[in-house]
Amino acid sequence: MALMITSECINCDVCEPECPNEAISMGEEIYVIDPAKCTECVGHFDEPQCVQVCPVECIPVDPSHTESQDALWTKYRRLMLVKE
Ligand code: SF4
Ligand code: SF4
Repeated sequence: MALMITSECINCDVCEPECPNEAISMGEEIYVIDPAKCTECVGHFDEPQCVQVCPVECIPVDPSHTESQDALWTKYRRLMLVKE
């Protein structure tokens, strides 16, 4: 699953630079996660880095973007190919 940022976000800016996939950006009012780029940090870290640093715990899994571990690894590899 990709993760999502809820309306409890206080725009503290700390998660955006931590994302290895550049999936987090400022939206119209709060930060948002691009589900096409979020691998739950699979391929980079054992734990989602944004969740680790968020002071208000407003980054749950996004139930509308459910993916298996295999699908997350496939997304990770595709993103790495784009970067090369
Ligand atoms: S879980 Fe990882 S890849 Fe997804 S938005 Fe958070 S830091 Fe980025
Ligand atoms: S760390 Fe949490 S509160 Fe801070 S900008 Fe990111 S989602 Fe919002």
